[in-house]
Amino acid sequence: MKFAVMSKGDEVSNKLQQRIKTYLTDFELEYDDHEPDIVISVGGDGTLLYAFHQYSDRLEETAFVGIHTGHLGFYADWVPDEVEKLVIHIARTPFQIVEYPLLEVIVRYLDGGKENRYLALNECTVKSDEGSLVMNVEIKGELFETFRGDGLCISTPSGSTAYNKALGGAIIHPSLPSLQLSEMASINNRVFRTVGSPLVLPQHHTCMLKPVNDVDFRITIDHLFLLHKKVKSIQCRVAEEKIRFARFRPFPFWKRVKESFVKD
Ligand code: NAD
Repeated sequence: MKFAVMSKGDEVSNKLQQRIKTYLTDFELEYDDHEPDIVISVGGDGTLLYAFHQYSDRLEETAFVGIHTGHLGFYADWVPDEVEKLVIHIARTPFQIVEYPLLEVIVRYLDGGKENRYLALNECTVKSDEGSLVMNVEIKGELFETFRGDGLCISTPSGSTAYNKALGGAIIHPSLPSLQLSEMASINNRVFRTVGSPLVLPQHHTCMLKPVNDVDFRITIDHLFLLHKKVKSIQCRVAEEKIRFARFRPFPFWKRVKESFVKD
């Protein structure tokens, strides 16, 4: 089996990265950061997001597992003290795979330029480059509303505990292939009106955002930020692809939610 280890870059994570490399090589696993079967991310959720984007073109062949060197992560459940145990699991036991849905985002341009396709593990956010965001929101090809406000967030189920939660969105179990559209400070008065509630869309219901006036937008895909000019539309739906996590023990989603947000 071929493996790669990705570090957050701080001293603790780098040391752990080296130890994991040495242990797994001693177990006669091959280090290959081009075509790994398993990627071990050492750091936090941000490191796992980074690892996902590094290998998003070979999701069917690569599984991910996360070790957190800081506070408990949503994607990184192993702690540094357990690293020997994890290494033995990776080397000796065939692991189970748990798949989580992803978000597909396609940005199309007015000048006929080549469209860009992205996959998000957490979410895509859209804000105006200047002033309020004004967007027509279409669902399944029908105009649903004209949104005016700070921005829109379209999240995956596993991303529902991240930015989406801070916007008052619901927490969605990752076994439900869906996307959630949540508002950032919508303008609601006698003239302008939006639904005001987060919307959860099933697989194959496409959400299309179409500019009303301005056509330059700040779009994030997870931790990645880009300014897109002359945008014609932003299409969001549940992706065909999924992320595959290597599971060596149960890691119940609701337990993670409780430990992160409820219990001390
Ligand atoms: P960062 O360093 O600013 O970390 C943001 C925090 O989000 C970290 O504590 C991280 O553990 C947590 N996080 C990431 N994914 C999560 C998930 N799926 N569930 C629960 N918590 C999660 O930035 P980063 O590490 O590069 O992560 C980028 C993410 O930051 C974005 O995908 C977005 O979800 C999140 N973010 C959140 C807010 C907010 O809550 N107001 C604002 C901007 C970005």
